[in-house]
Amino acid sequence: MESQHFYLDGGNDEDYTIYLDNNATSKIHPEVVKAIAATLSDVYGNPSSSYRLGRIAKKTIEKARASIKHHLGITTGELIFTASATESNNMVIRGRIDQYVETHIVPHVVMTSVEHSSVYETVTYMAKKGECEYSLIPVDAHGMIDNDALYAALDRPHTVLCLIVMGNNEIGTIQDMKSIVKILNGFPDVHLHVDITQVVGKYNVNLDKLGFDSASFSAHKFQGPKGVGGLYLHDPPSIGCVVTGGSQENNLRAGTENTAYINGMAKALSISLKSLSKKQKKVLSNRNWLQQKFMDEIPHIRVNAPLQDPKKRLYNTLSISVPFCNSRDIVKYLDKKGIFVNVGSACSKGKRSRILESIGLPVEYEAGTLRLSLSYYTTMKQCQRAFAEIKHALLRNLD
Ligand code: PMP
Repeated sequence: MESQHFYLDGGNDEDYTIYLDNNATSKIHPEVVKAIAATLSDVYGNPSSSYRLGRIAKKTIEKARASIKHHLGITTGELIFTASATESNNMVIRGRIDQYVETHIVPHVVMTSVEHSSVYETVTYMAKKGECEYSLIPVDAHGMIDNDALYAALDRPHTVLCLIVMGNNEIGTIQDMKSIVKILNGFPDVHLHVDITQVVGKYNVNLDKLGFDSASFSAHKFQGPKGVGGLYLHDPPSIGCVVTGGSQENNLRAGTENTAYINGMAKALSISLKSLSKKQKKVLSNRNWLQQKFMDEIPHIRVNAPLQDPKKRLYNTLSISVPFCNSRDIVKYLDKKGIFVNVGSACSKGKRSRILESIGLPVEYEAGTLRLSLSYYTTMKQCQRAFAEIKHALLRNLD
């Protein structure tokens, strides 16, 4: 089996395995594995049961909730546990639109053209069913949204929801949330939902101060387990319930909570935010080293990001495009060398990238796009080896 072969060949050897796809997912932290294993075996009661074992499970969940709320600066809102950022996004979109089903109003949804597929596909599906209408906000060549277009779209009648991805997973653009919130303040009936999946664990986030109505995130992006996520709601009744059943999670998400993974997510977040500025500096310096090497040594290369302003860019992400190259072949070549990078985005699976199209990347560059996303564990030695191999593959492709 391939996975066995992978481990036999040194899956955990940092010189052999160079993992540069942290925006797709991150390697779980060993301390998180320990916390999950202990919770799985010891805290097995149903958190809804009133006897002691249930109360212990409930307490574990509430402790995790308090810790995550503390780390994300939530004092005036609620935090709902879900299975993923995809589920959190779905809950808000469907839950908000659902509130208008019996009103004869067709709600209007505003979203950027660079949303994650869990937002874009959900809204377009609901629109196809006639349950909503939507407007797409265009972005510029660096992925920044057009605030005038945002204002004009919000101004349409029956606008009830605005969806913004704060940190883009493919090209790393960070939107100017201050100016967006300022615009939204002029539209008090519009619920502002922000996808902060690529931001949590990489930056200090204070949701009280940011002023969003809701926000989604996922543990596996910050060294937590896959299959658990969060949904911040400033005002829980602002969305209807779409996962019906029991009364768990503020009556908004029925189903027995995943005590172990929730505990693992809290542990992962506190670990990832420890010594954050030191981690940020190291990752940024490695990313910038790689970027400079590519710009210096690969002809006609483009870097897809707002290069002039580091604050508008995830510090771990490098999206590069080289004309007339085939990044799928390059990814395959690197795979054999134990170097793992992505073409465009893990979520687009062979489809043309909506994000690269949105930034107006010329067609000849699109198939030659690679996304490298680093973590604190990426070393300079790994960057050097990855660069040498990628350069070799790119130049061979360009021949
Ligand atoms: N939003 C963004 C910006 C993402 O990067 C991702 C993961 N690729 C998701 C949502 C979906 O997260 P999950 O895997 O938890 O469903």
